[in-house]
Amino acid sequence: MTTHVTNLYRMLPQLGEYLESPHGVELLACHPRPMVVEAARAVLDHLRQQIVDAALTEASLQAELSRLHERIAAHLADGQRSSLQPVINATGVILQTNLGRAPLSEAAIARILEVAAGYCNLEYDLETGGRGRRGASIEELLLKTLDCDPHTHAALIVNNCAAATFLTLNALAEGGEVIVSRGELVEIGGGFRVPDILRKSGARLVEVGTTNRTRIQDYAQAITPDTRLLLRVHRSNFEMTGFTQQPTLEELAGLSKKAGIPLFEDQGTGCMVDLAAYGIPHQSSFARSAQSGASIVSASGDKLFGGPQCGLIVGHADLLQTLRTNPLYRAFRVDKLTCAGLQATLIAYLTGDADSIPTLRMLRESPDTIRQRCQQYVDALASSCLLAEVVESESVVGGGTTPGATVPSFAVALRLPGIGADLLAAQLRRLSTPVIARIRDDRVLLDLRTVPASFDTKLLPNLKEELLQNIEPLRSTRASA
Ligand SMILES: *Cc1c(COP(=O)(O)O)cnc(C)c1O
Repeated sequence: MTTHVTNLYRMLPQLGEYLESPHGVELLACHPRPMVVEAARAVLDHLRQQIVDAALTEASLQAELSRLHERIAAHLADGQRSSLQPVINATGVILQTNLGRAPLSEAAIARILEVAAGYCNLEYDLETGGRGRRGASIEELLLKTLDCDPHTHAALIVNNCAAATFLTLNALAEGGEVIVSRGELVEIGGGFRVPDILRKSGARLVEVGTTNRTRIQDYAQAITPDTRLLLRVHRSNFEMTGFTQQPTLEELAGLSKKAGIPLFEDQGTGCMVDLAAYGIPHQSSFARSAQSGASIVSASGDKLFGGPQCGLIVGHADLLQTLRTNPLYRAFRVDKLTCAGLQATLIAYLTGDADSIPTLRMLRESPDTIRQRCQQYVDALASSCLLAEVVESESVVGGGTTPGATVPSFAVALRLPGIGADLLAAQLRRLSTPVIARIRDDRVLLDLRTVPASFDTKLLPNLKEELLQNIEPLRSTRASA
């Protein structure tokens, strides 16, 4: 090593020195030690590499060292951005799997907090003082919500709809055959492919019909002594139009009854309201499916149902008993926090307070109300360098629920002269509460349908102060370039 390099090396503080310095102590007071060590090491290693590459003189190294603490703090902050944190969803996509799907109602959050803070009667019968069954009261609420007869029907809650489907197939069809239309051999997303799930469950897939057309006779002709289930998978994330045919659920239920083979519908979306009222006609409904004559129906708790992540299963009591006693149920059962959130969500449906469920409230929000809020944003930003205007937008339900369907909405379109929309969107993601936006025609769109009005008092100041402050250096770099 040359003396020059050695001399520059000597100017660098040791990691331990930095950690014990007032700056190091300051960071350690509010961040976990391993993270501070990692950030400090990364910044010092980078400087060491620059010295080896002869990229630094004594003067430039001195300048770098004067910003050492700032660099380490920034490195830490960058690392923290990837930790789980709240974001503002301004995409207009109500159910965004990447953004955690359904936000919970206030009642659900309150109940989760209460239950999380201490003990609860999760599996304890307060009447007898003995053991109770997990989720029993919630299963009852689900049956009531779906208007199913508790004498003939039962319900079961598991971790998600994928688990619900897997458990049902394994418990009812392992070693046997399951008949499914070729038009329903779908991939739901996240690697959930119906043929794979079927194989893993130990059931044999019997495909009938063609991609675009399947008739009830196709099912009837495929029935053998080994047939255990007729499976209907709701095509929740794509649309099929043109020369298509598919038996109705009622026709399938009729065949199921005649042949004495249970019909299982993976409904998926958990929709409980008539979406036609919001301009989205012909949608499958969990409630309707549960009452349709399907022997067993599964849905997600955190899609249109608007509750916590879980899988909801309802069906004939004897079939549900087979699911309940399957060892997989123990592996798929939900925790007390999910039970608490789901209970509050079910009570909202039962008390007719569906508007307290955020997904439904967002869906119902009138375009005019959204337009007025957008205008407030535009007015508030009028005197800034951000060019803002109200534009028409289309929100989507998303989450693999209502493919192709849109809901009219409005958005605040933002533009910053000289700065591309990509860069502006990236700056929005860097805010202390990151904002996720959509880009259209080189403008950044904030669709306020998915931003609760209660966030306006937080989001607007963030845009006006933090964002403008953060983009100031970008603007001056552009201006001088
Ligand atoms: C979304 C969906 C699933 C998967 O649900 P998760 O709760 O995400 O596991 C399964 N089937 C259908 C039809 C769906 O729409």
